[in-house]
Amino acid sequence: MKKVVKFGGSSLASAEQFKKVAAIIKAEESRRYVVPSAPGKRFADDTKVTDMLYQCYDLAEKGGDIKPLLDKIESRYHEIILGLGLKLNLDGEFKVIAEQFAAGAGRDYAASRGEYLNGIVLANYLGFEFVDAAEVIFFHANGTLNVDKTDKMLHECLKSREYAVIPGFYGSLDDGTIRTFSRGGSDVTGSLVARAIHADMYENWTDVSGFLVADPRIISNPEVIESITYRELRELSYMGAGVLHEEAIFPVRKEGIPINIRNTNAPEEKGTLIVESTCRKPRFTITGIAGRKGFAAINVDKDMMNSEIGFGRKVLSVFEENGLSFEHMPSGIDTMTIVVQQAEFVEKEQQVIAGIHRAVQPDIIEMESDLALIAVVGRGMKATRGTVGRIFSALAHARVNVKMIDQGSSELNVIVGVKSCDFETAIRAIYDIFVTSQL
Ligand code: ASP
Repeated sequence: MKKVVKFGGSSLASAEQFKKVAAIIKAEESRRYVVPSAPGKRFADDTKVTDMLYQCYDLAEKGGDIKPLLDKIESRYHEIILGLGLKLNLDGEFKVIAEQFAAGAGRDYAASRGEYLNGIVLANYLGFEFVDAAEVIFFHANGTLNVDKTDKMLHECLKSREYAVIPGFYGSLDDGTIRTFSRGGSDVTGSLVARAIHADMYENWTDVSGFLVADPRIISNPEVIESITYRELRELSYMGAGVLHEEAIFPVRKEGIPINIRNTNAPEEKGTLIVESTCRKPRFTITGIAGRKGFAAINVDKDMMNSEIGFGRKVLSVFEENGLSFEHMPSGIDTMTIVVQQAEFVEKEQQVIAGIHRAVQPDIIEMESDLALIAVVGRGMKATRGTVGRIFSALAHARVNVKMIDQGSSELNVIVGVKSCDFETAIRAIYDIFVTSQL
């Protein structure tokens, strides 16, 4: 059994947290490949080392004195090293970093040092080998991941190493220049390592006990999702349920490797298991609820639209020509609605309306702004009669007016559009009917 274990920034923010991490790793022989983030926040208004590094580099670029800030970063590591009682000195590393900053090594290089140094400290503490991610994770010059080279190099490197620490978040171009993933990208590194070594499990350790059925800012103490499929997760993350970097699921999904989201501060909890498919019955009919505000809907009406071949394509091409992607497209016989992100749409609104008039000569175009979309997601819905009915009766009882409904034929999710001001009430009503009332 081989596991890749990735630890997020808050799991490695202090010596205390490092001790918890080491205890977790040592508790299971199979936890052999470790991917650390940079030290995160120790308390609510603390600053992440990654953010300090970005600030420091920006200052260096403006010709400012970076010494005080770099010293502050160094002291974060010193504190950890001291707290762990290690005989490790990072002075040499910080000297190189200062020189590289002065030489203009780039923002990505700067940010990557957070993970690089944390990897060195963690490897030293665990007695594992340190593998610099620059030697095993590769990007193309355009910034996209070089998937084949990465997989090959990671596999080659790790097959001969029984235990290793590979820092998250960065890799390099063919010429050695350091590149990073987008923020939170250590999740992607963990997933790539898991695929390359054909891991049995990718454990992603963070500071929450898994994915929650609903946003805790709206529902107090929501239930944890015990198991979720990749497709359900994709639907929920698209609607804003964050925990895992969006791109982290693809490498492991292809290989059928499950991801287990775990809590470093509560290792006894099982967290959430993310799998390709499962016959485990979900605890509730729905797996999760997520949503986002800030959408606008454009309704296009034209008599006999249904028999006009190419109507939908012509309308959508107007959006395409204006560089707008659409989110949803519910339709009726003589009407179609295009749901877009309001912030992007407003700037191009008049061009789009003119474009639709030219393209299809509609009878009416109407717009509705400040909409929120709520996705009710669950593989369990397919086998349960009356789910949609329950959603709508819950919303009616809560006096929420439903503006739009969209259910894919996969029956994996139902999307409901409501006014932004009804967003929280709607989520609470749906949560109550499917979760609270079932406990
Ligand atoms: N340290 C990086 C960030 O703060 C990457 C990560 O933690 O995954 O975004």
